[in-house]
Amino acid sequence: MAEVIVLANQKGGVGKTTTAVNLAACLAVMEKAVLLVDCDPQGNATSGVGWDKQSDRDDLYSVYFTAQDFHKAVHTTNFPYLSLLPATSDLVGAELEMVEKRNREFYLRDGINSLKQNYDFIIIDCPPSLGLLTVNALCASRHLVVPMQCEFYALEGMAQLMRTYTLVRQRLNAELELLGVVLTMHDPRSNLTKDVESEVCTHFPGLVFSTTIPRNVRLSEAPSHGLPVINYDIKSKGSQAYLKFAEECFGRLEEKRKRGTGRG
Ligand code: ATP
Ligand code: MG
Repeated sequence: MAEVIVLANQKGGVGKTTTAVNLAACLAVMEKAVLLVDCDPQGNATSGVGWDKQSDRDDLYSVYFTAQDFHKAVHTTNFPYLSLLPATSDLVGAELEMVEKRNREFYLRDGINSLKQNYDFIIIDCPPSLGLLTVNALCASRHLVVPMQCEFYALEGMAQLMRTYTLVRQRLNAELELLGVVLTMHDPRSNLTKDVESEVCTHFPGLVFSTTIPRNVRLSEAPSHGLPVINYDIKSKGSQAYLKFAEECFGRLEEKRKRGTGRG
């Protein structure tokens, strides 16, 4: 049964999609069966693995309200072990339609539950908001990973995200656990980075991943080629960082599983 990991942070441009795509690709390279679920109408994770958004094949929106149809929107990619459940701007419609519905928090969970037996990992990318799509993603997941850019307002956004996380745990999905915070676009020479890093480590003791993701131009170039960074430039600092990060995530999940807290 798949471990379901959600990448969330309502702040825009902090590296959610970059982390979702590259974590998924690195786990796939480790020969784990991975499904990348794009839950953002911007569809950046979708194009990031080379999917043509003009394609008329099923996407997340076309199956959103029918759990038993979710498999129809799962597609193989050019990368072994990596499948994609793509999103396009149509997904905005799901967010609007959900408002009226009962059990509106659980559509994604129900659909994803129908796919779990086929994968080792399901990785969900979220939009930059704490709206219903993100709440659905939090309800569908077991592990929350928060990508965080080391900048002045980073922690302010965290407080709001942690309130939502606590509410979701109390009312909607008691299984959700914070797996960790990953520092992105990290510059060890900058004093601001150092200050934010030490503050985050104080706020989240033991939860900040020791792997940090450096600012690396290859990471920003790869998506325009529809490639995860390891398929674009394996030697780059970005590739090496995400490979290490995937291993650290994997290790943390193994540890949790051994302690008996990783699965219900
Ligand atoms: P959104 O909130 O809009 O969904 P996001 O949190 O998903 O954004 P990304 O799209 O992953 O953030 O990253 C924002 C921009 O920064 C992108 O152009 C991406 O290519 C670039 N970027 C992300 N991480 C890095 C990095 N470590 N080094 C260099 N550029 C990066
Ligand atoms: Mg994104």
